Amino acid sequence: MRVDTCRHCGATRDQDAASAVTWVRERDPDGREHWLCPDCVRRHVRDIEAKLSHEWW
Ligand SMILES: [Zn+2]
Repeated sequence: MRVDTCRHCGATRDQDAASAVTWVRERDPDGREHWLCPDCVRRHVRDIEAKLSHEWW
């Protein structure tokens, strides 16, 4: 089974948990996909909306 982890804090996404749907999948310009856990999404929602590079976080 594939395990997704938050790229920011390393939390593990349980695909069977109800909270899994609140995770956000991002795609980098190079095509790689990353996951963000709900906590990090809340914390960085402004950065995500502004499409800032992760270097700015
Ligand atoms: Zn996180």
